Amino acid sequence: MQGGESKGIEKHTLLIAGGGPAALSAAIYAGRYGIDTVVLESWQPGGQAALTSEIENYPGFVSIRGSDLTSAMKDQAEKAGAVFRMESVESSWPSENGIGVKTDSAEYLADYLIVATGAAPAMLGVPGESKYYGRGVSFCATCDAPFFRNKKVIVVGGGDSAVKEALHLTNVVSGLGLVHRRDRLRAEPILAEKLVSSEKVTTYWNSHLREVLGDEQGVTAVVIETPEGRKTVETDGVFLYVGTKPATEPFRELVKLDEKGAVATKHIVGTSNPRVFAAGDVTDNGFKQVVTAASDGARAAAAVFHLIQHYE
Ligand code: NAP
Repeated sequence: MQGGESKGIEKHTLLIAGGGPAALSAAIYAGRYGIDTVVLESWQPGGQAALTSEIENYPGFVSIRGSDLTSAMKDQAEKAGAVFRMESVESSWPSENGIGVKTDSAEYLADYLIVATGAAPAMLGVPGESKYYGRGVSFCATCDAPFFRNKKVIVVGGGDSAVKEALHLTNVVSGLGLVHRRDRLRAEPILAEKLVSSEKVTTYWNSHLREVLGDEQGVTAVVIETPEGRKTVETDGVFLYVGTKPATEPFRELVKLDEKGAVATKHIVGTSNPRVFAAGDVTDNGFKQVVTAASDGARAAAAVFHLIQHYE
């Protein structure tokens, strides 16, 4: 099960696309099975989990920074023998001898591929959102909270990401407006209650962010449509947590996707291509947690090991 090169195309038994908990867990298991494994992680090691301030529901840790958890996973995968490359997958295709993969700097042929590229933050598509991205509009409170010390921010969304990251922001900001399109949060109740009871938080229920306003310095205000009418609310920052979009574009030719663009799975990690498995947030599996991503990764590596043992 050793890799090698021929005609500029690098050959390996297993490629894993992605760098989050699903990919890292797959790499740990594959390495321990002795499978020749290369992990292609893009610019964001650790995936979305690494951008999470505190993870409080991963078994074994009462609370751990997302980046600490994912770097420990990566160390473990490297010790198990997986090789990491910082390369973005651009396209992939089925080939007679396996799976072809082209990245931004190389081309590969693999017997098997595990797609674990996760999901990227979704955008609202409102005026000002793109214009002020990086100048007050952010998708990452963990990264950007220090810029908003003693300032006012708006958080949009009602899921686990919105609530967890809003809670993180309440540690530094002077005031936080939570804009949610319904009158109840879908996030874990224990965190949702903690957030709405914070003195720093103003809630805008049944409301929609319609525009981000600003000047040459960055964001200055937002327009919120509330049940009482449109309001212009002064703010220094806007954090958007309105769901995610699976990162499946490079795999369109390879596996069947569902109507939302997620990899359509069968038996949890199987795909429409018998040599391709999928794990974590990139899949159509509903429950998106670090622990389920890690579980998917382990199953996917075990499925590859099973095929190698029985058919090669
Ligand atoms: P999510 O659960 O899909 O929540 C997205 C939120 O954005 C929802 O509240 C949704 O409103 C709102 N929304 C969606 N489209 C919108 C639009 N066009 N305009 C306004 N609001 C919109 O996404 P997420 O919070 O990023 O979480 C993704 C997955 O990761 C989930 O499965 C989540 O449980 C998991 N996660 C878990 C943790 C954890 O610690 N357990 C942490 C982060 C993420 P509605 O509520 O009305 O649908």
